[in-house]
Amino acid sequence: MRPTDEQYCLGVESTADDFGVGIATFKGEILANASSGYIPEEGGIHPREAARHHAEAADKVLEEAFQKTGIKPRNLSIIAFSQGPGLGPCLRTGATVARALASYLNIPLVGVNHSIAHIEIGKLATGAQDPVTLYVSGGNTMVTAYDCGKYRVFGETLDIALGNCLDVFAREAGLKHRKGLPLGAALEQLAAKGGKLVPLPYLVKGMDLSLSGLLTAATTALRNDSYKLEDLCYSLQENAFSMVTEVTERALAHTEKKEVLLTGGVAANKRLQSMLAVIAEEHDARFSVVPREFATDNGAMIAWTGVLAYTHGVITPIDESYVKLRWRVEKVDVPWLK
Ligand code: AMP
Ligand code: MG
Repeated sequence: MRPTDEQYCLGVESTADDFGVGIATFKGEILANASSGYIPEEGGIHPREAARHHAEAADKVLEEAFQKTGIKPRNLSIIAFSQGPGLGPCLRTGATVARALASYLNIPLVGVNHSIAHIEIGKLATGAQDPVTLYVSGGNTMVTAYDCGKYRVFGETLDIALGNCLDVFAREAGLKHRKGLPLGAALEQLAAKGGKLVPLPYLVKGMDLSLSGLLTAATTALRNDSYKLEDLCYSLQENAFSMVTEVTERALAHTEKKEVLLTGGVAANKRLQSMLAVIAEEHDARFSVVPREFATDNGAMIAWTGVLAYTHGVITPIDESYVKLRWRVEKVDVPWLK
């Protein structure tokens, strides 16, 4: 039995293909992290189909989170939810669940920035304090670090996200997304069997990077049957990962921070991890990777970031809880870091 004086936050994540519910204590213990992923029958994420999945999965995922912990809804102190950035229909479904819970239980609601939640769960899980963070996922690719009161974006993709780039190529190559084996992981397995570097575009512009040309070139080479699939997967990874690593290294050199954190769904990739470990070592920085359970989108990271925000004065009134599809990290107040 947990002490009754402990305070709990329930977090709802629903920005894209995953519907997640996490429960965190105010002291930073993650008690539950339940989720259900929408897997499209064909092609990429269809926002309305994903939102329908979330609406249908919500009660089951909520129940799983409560059951695992033995915590009752009336034991909760606050409800946090992913307010953005993300896909409109998906965000709105999660926001509706969160608003309903907060209103019914008559407890505060806290809107959380999804990208910042990926950073904060990485810090919580690894003990990193003030890292340069590479956040790479299905929908986001950015290098951030805290400076002058905000998380600042030092570099980012100018077009598609790294995870999206890998997923589209993997689908073109006929790989299938299965439960427990995301497309990026299936591609990683093939890449490990390749080793010949195929010429593909490498596009870093200042501190930003572009992945769409690389994806087009890799897909064209695949259709022309010019190279072995394993070598193409290997080369796609080598180029894309070198690009994000280059930008991360420059941010590290500029900020002179002493930690590098890798977070987001693509953080599970061993090759990417090894590249970042090298640059961290060269700059005498400690390298850490978010654990796999918190790498892809999850409710625990929203619950924990909700705790950080709420305990530093952030509350989101229901009539200001509209979702923010393009909510950038440098627009978010992070009073817990001041
Ligand atoms: P997220 O958007 O944070 O939920 O992360 C999902 C993304 O992570 C998808 O693009 C996946 O293909 C990608 N991903 C998951 N595991 C791996 C892996 N081992 N290597 C590369 N990408 C991965
Ligand atoms: Mg996801």
